[in-house]
Amino acid sequence: MTRARLVVKGIVQGVGFRPFVYRIATANRLVGFVRNLGDAGVEVVVEGTPHSISRFVTQLQTEQPPTSRIHQVDVTHPSETGEFNDFRILKSSEARVHAGSVIPPDIAICDNCLRELRTNRDRRHDYFFITCTDCGPRYTIIDALPYDRPRTTMRDFEMCKKCSNEYKDPSNRRFHAQTVACASCGPSVILVRREGSRVDSADPIREAGRLLERGCILAIKGNGGYHLASSTSLTEPIARLRKTKFRLQKPLAVMARDLETVRSFAEVAPVEAELMTSYVKPIVLLRKRSGFNLSEQIAPGLHNIGVMLPYTGLHNMLFDETSERAFVMTSANPPEEPIIKDDEEAFARLRDVVDYFLVHNRRISQRCDDSVVRFLDSTPTLLRRSRGYAPAPITVAVPKDACALGVGGELNVTSCLIYHGRAYMTQHIGDVETLQTFQFQKEATRHLLTLTGCKPNMVGRDLHPLFNTTKLAEELAQESSVRAVPVQHHHAHVAGLMAEHNVDEMVGICCDGYGYGEDGSAWGGEIILGDHNGHKRVRHLELQPMIGGDVATKYPLRMVAGILGDQPEVGDWLLERRQYFRHGEEEINMLLKQARSTQPMTTSCGRVLDAISAILDLCHERTYEGEPAMKLESAAFGGKDVLGIEPMLNGKAIETSPMIRWIFANLGRFSVRDLAYSAQSYLARSLGKSATIVANELGLKTIGFTGGVACNEAITGILRATVESEGLRFLVHQSVPPGDGGLSFGQAVVAAQSP
Ligand SMILES: [Zn+2]
Ligand SMILES: [Zn+2]
Ligand SMILES: [Zn+2]
Repeated sequence: MTRARLVVKGIVQGVGFRPFVYRIATANRLVGFVRNLGDAGVEVVVEGTPHSISRFVTQLQTEQPPTSRIHQVDVTHPSETGEFNDFRILKSSEARVHAGSVIPPDIAICDNCLRELRTNRDRRHDYFFITCTDCGPRYTIIDALPYDRPRTTMRDFEMCKKCSNEYKDPSNRRFHAQTVACASCGPSVILVRREGSRVDSADPIREAGRLLERGCILAIKGNGGYHLASSTSLTEPIARLRKTKFRLQKPLAVMARDLETVRSFAEVAPVEAELMTSYVKPIVLLRKRSGFNLSEQIAPGLHNIGVMLPYTGLHNMLFDETSERAFVMTSANPPEEPIIKDDEEAFARLRDVVDYFLVHNRRISQRCDDSVVRFLDSTPTLLRRSRGYAPAPITVAVPKDACALGVGGELNVTSCLIYHGRAYMTQHIGDVETLQTFQFQKEATRHLLTLTGCKPNMVGRDLHPLFNTTKLAEELAQESSVRAVPVQHHHAHVAGLMAEHNVDEMVGICCDGYGYGEDGSAWGGEIILGDHNGHKRVRHLELQPMIGGDVATKYPLRMVAGILGDQPEVGDWLLERRQYFRHGEEEINMLLKQARSTQPMTTSCGRVLDAISAILDLCHERTYEGEPAMKLESAAFGGKDVLGIEPMLNGKAIETSPMIRWIFANLGRFSVRDLAYSAQSYLARSLGKSATIVANELGLKTIGFTGGVACNEAITGILRATVESEGLRFLVHQSVPPGDGGLSFGQAVVAAQSP
């Protein structure tokens, strides 16, 4: 007989790991114990024959539960004591041995639970909060470690006898499932009118579905926060929702009954179907089908729509007694604020927006929005990495001993911790311009540090001196007496892409809306060389005036006035659009005068796309981030390049003015679709050409594309073709968002590599 002690690191709590260890230990006739540790790891001690132990250790690493992830197993062989008679799951230990283990993300309802939910004689038939060791909320319910019920928001519900028996029965699939519950002991759900009175209904969830079908707006409490829901076939409730939510144009995500139903209004490729039905179940951006017949109010002016499938028992039941194919299901967050998670706040803030509330009585520990993914070719591109992903780590190539934190920029912020070659990112935080969102980031960042048990020895932050995230980084750095490392915005994007693919030499094309440049000006169309010497800006888009600075971001006609102000016909053309200017003709005349004087200048690719969108009358006021560029992309869908001009490279600058003048001069001569396509094509071809020239000069073989514009399908596709036709390798993000949601990752990478 011998003894072995194993310490397992990774995602091993909340995924049925101890029951799994119990099963393989007893199958191998081993005695000993398994327990959770306070650092999110698991400790196993076994005694038995050397042969059984070695088989056990192998099985532990090859047959583990599907949602678990083992990062490391440390095996030691202390001498055997003969103290055990059987194998047991022991009470968790608070001990923290190693840093870097983490709890799992929320896991969508599994097939077994779904089957029980639908089985008449099952004791959890119709029970909305049905979960097991393989599924259910995790990240959103855990307050502290180790993962046991008393440290989750399930502690408010005492298990009944039946649930408790299942919890203790090694042969049951709810053996040691911390979220086990049933209708008699677990969370319950009620339907409440807006003014607070309870609707007397025996079946509140299906009643809610019927109300949605009749045109009501509901606030529905989910696992990670509140959603606002409405019908997708009626336009009135969506219009009302938009008005009260101050989202006049922003696309709204929908939740569809099932995959087959999705196919009735959107095109679904096999890779998309696979992700939509996986345990992650994110929102996937799909192309609308021709003859799309849900309300046009859902995603106005866009050729795609964000769709997810039901991911809890509650969501599934919502569809039971309606003929609606899908419901609008959008995060309930007041403008510029995080998603609402607490009941009191929901009732106070949403009373004027909704007709009813569908609420359960389980508290939410961590708020978490739905994730959003778009497939470009067959590559999943994360537009928002949150539920189902956070805080599961991403493997990354950085120095092993580094422990570095990144805190993001200003928009779409996340925080990211890199430790021992793994990057742990928080859920989506949002734009941290307001106090509420900034507070949320502080809490989520500290929670991440507690969960992983890591203490950063570097903190990466943006170069911008006044961002809230800059203050947060300085504060965290000071607390741990470490250094805050300023990282230029586009440098962070490119460094992140390089680390994701483990390359150390690359020409990075980085296009987005805005990043504070090394010279203090507004950058956003950059070609950056990354190699062993660090990073260097080698090319950029032509500088263009932004009349009035930031205001030009909201009103893209100001970009047009700035770029085309010297063209004689532009004055009259702008006057025809005077309704889009708050001060009409007076403002236009002032703008044209200003166009000739010094203005803040920008190399932003986003602003060029905005200008084209305005010239083509696709968008004259930006009501959500990226709106003009997204509408341009949708308008260009299916178009062809009628411009075909060669890229104009002028020293370090890639010219954009001649293309913009050409588009303007050809209005009416070609279709909006072809003009829109031609503009995107020119930008992609000229960026690609410019980058390949740099790569060829230096003998580099790899070109990468990052930044928010890398979510654009047409531009990414043309860029890929341009680069690959030169025999070079083209890289895009796969695990980290290309937009500013991935900025914290890049900052942490640079910080980790800094001396
Ligand atoms: Zn399950
Ligand atoms: Zn029960
Ligand atoms: Zn960016």
